[in-house]
Amino acid sequence: MDYKSVLISEIEKSAKYNLNTYPFNYLGSLNDLYIYNFNEPALDDVLIRSQKAYESNRQLSSFERSEILLEAARLLRIHKKEMSTIISYEAKKPIKFAEQEVERSIQTLKLSGIESSKLEGEYLNLDVAPNGAGREAFTKIESLGVVYAMTPFNFPLNLAIHKIGPAIAVGNSVIVKPSEKTPFSTYFLKYLLEESGLPKDLVQVVTGDGENITDTLLRYNEVKKVSFTGSVRVGKLIKNKVGLRKLTLELGSTSPVFVSKNNTIKDLDDIAEQIVIGAFSYNGQVCISTQKVYIDDEIYETLLEKIVTKTKSLKYGDLFNHETDYSDLIDQQAKNRILQWITETKNDGAVVITGGNSFNGAIEPTVITNTNDNMKICSEEIFGPLVVVENIKSKSIIELLNNSQYGLNVGVFTSDLTEALKLSNELDYGQVLINDVPTLRFDHMPYNGRRNSGYGTEGIKYAIKEMSQMKMVSLKYE
Ligand code: NAD
Repeated sequence: MDYKSVLISEIEKSAKYNLNTYPFNYLGSLNDLYIYNFNEPALDDVLIRSQKAYESNRQLSSFERSEILLEAARLLRIHKKEMSTIISYEAKKPIKFAEQEVERSIQTLKLSGIESSKLEGEYLNLDVAPNGAGREAFTKIESLGVVYAMTPFNFPLNLAIHKIGPAIAVGNSVIVKPSEKTPFSTYFLKYLLEESGLPKDLVQVVTGDGENITDTLLRYNEVKKVSFTGSVRVGKLIKNKVGLRKLTLELGSTSPVFVSKNNTIKDLDDIAEQIVIGAFSYNGQVCISTQKVYIDDEIYETLLEKIVTKTKSLKYGDLFNHETDYSDLIDQQAKNRILQWITETKNDGAVVITGGNSFNGAIEPTVITNTNDNMKICSEEIFGPLVVVENIKSKSIIELLNNSQYGLNVGVFTSDLTEALKLSNELDYGQVLINDVPTLRFDHMPYNGRRNSGYGTEGIKYAIKEMSQMKMVSLKYE
């Protein structure tokens, strides 16, 4: 079957649960497809089937779950071209970035398959307690039940796998609600998982109004875990609704990087290149997009010039041209907000060194300086093609970097080991990346945001911990 037929058939299967349809306009030549709003009775049915699938599939062994996930990784490689095309269309993501996302997604599926073979408990020596003699004990990892996962538009495939992969690896069932802007890659993923042997209903996809779907599903105690990736605003709403359920929130940031004068490992061209890629890939619509660059006085002018030159060389173009660096933003609303923030910032005295103008659905990649921490472009996540570049002069870099409502990734360029260790100790962030920009995530590494950037940890091995429960068994033999 070609991918359009797969999508249509997946969506038609869902359609029997709801008959309200509306045209989905993002898709260019795919706009003959439709998504369906689920109504409440339909959601009740989705939940019942998810619980049943969970119960009837508890017999699946770790080996079998692992084989399914590894087979899905193999099928995704075979369908890389179709999946990249779907992501490009729905997320308006230039094809080279869509292909990168699919490559990463293959790895994320593989990692999930591997971790499914490593669900190990431990032996406990109970007789270290005075009353524990005569007993043996061990712990084991058990599944939870139904996981409810919500994903954002910007990495619609890989972030869905970051939730589905660990959930399946440990034996849960999953109901996924992709962003209403980008549902199709998730439908195609579900198809590939089922082609790989995943039992029916273990993964279900629902689309429609996020608030209604969440309120309906959270009425059921069978939903044992909620895993959300998206904005701080929605993350906070969800946190207030989940009660005592397990919860993971992966939220936004204003990811900063510091470039120290103590730098002999990388030349400034290399660093400028990384900063420009980190700031402007996919229009900066990345949760760890490099938003703030702080530079030591001695190298500020030289590095700024290199950043500006490289920024000016970025190419706007067609989504399916491999030369395209950036295309239109996800929607007009995002574009209007970013332009408004730029205007406000200029009115408050900041200087736009390059960019700042709007054309088609895009905004030119923009470099701004002379800002202060109270400006929105410094204190709030911009989620657009804009980077702030500042000379730290005599200010404390630790204070500059830590003075933020966010705490996801931070980057530091230095070849001074003492400086690297001091900063990694004192920076109040979930991940400190030395000699890299903050726009870097390896899919098996722990990924957790401090302050407004999140709650809980992802990364397959770590997500499995948050999607499972531990049981201790003790046996008295005396
Ligand atoms: P969003 O918060 O608007 O939407 C995320 C999901 O929540 C979508 O599925 C959406 O349909 C749903 N939703 C929206 N309103 C809801 C409500 N009231 N109740 C329940 N669900 C609701 O985010 P977005 O615009 O799709 O994505 C961008 C955001 O995601 C940025 O803030 C970015 O930093 C963040 N993000 C974080 C990570 C991470 O791992 N930390 C990764 C990618 C994106």
